[in-house]
Amino acid sequence: MIDRFDRFDFESALPVDKHDVNQRLWKPLGVIDGEYCYAVPIKPGVLIYIRSSVRSDGHAAGNGEDSIRCYIAADQTGTPLSSKPSRWITRVNGWEKRMTLQLRQLYKLGSQLKPCDKHPAMMHAFRVKQGVNKDRWFMKCPICGHWDSWLTPPVAKPQDAPPPAQPAAGQAVTSIKRRAQ
Ligand SMILES: [Zn+2]
Repeated sequence: MIDRFDRFDFESALPVDKHDVNQRLWKPLGVIDGEYCYAVPIKPGVLIYIRSSVRSDGHAAGNGEDSIRCYIAADQTGTPLSSKPSRWITRVNGWEKRMTLQLRQLYKLGSQLKPCDKHPAMMHAFRVKQGVNKDRWFMKCPICGHWDSWLTPPVAKPQDAPPPAQPAAGQAVTSIKRRAQ
């Protein structure tokens, strides 16, 4: 069932400092292309860009067509530094937890990005789409194609899967959490 949350619900699910819950780790970017957007700064030139799916009237759409999207970007205009998310966060029950997991992972990936040795540009994080290394992330220069290194966490588990159908899915989520801490 689609969770019809509002702007307050959404902002309440965004990350805060674990030692001081009044300390927000995000910045509001306002309404962009009809939906509220947010940024979680990681370091200069790297942030997580969040498209909330909350419309300008303050409510998420009543149907399932829009999802929450988070990706690593260079600036507050959302210039991507990573593969666009292939698994968007669907707004069914439990979206807060899935978003938190995805933000932790993106934070970890984004914090490893650095500029190319030959260009002033930040390298990008890409995810392997198929093959034995499927879902592993690596860092590469988008200008000269220099392949730098694998990024950790090495494997991105499908965090946006529908509510667990099998017991194994729950265990996978637990192990991601442990790695992220
Ligand atoms: Zn380069």
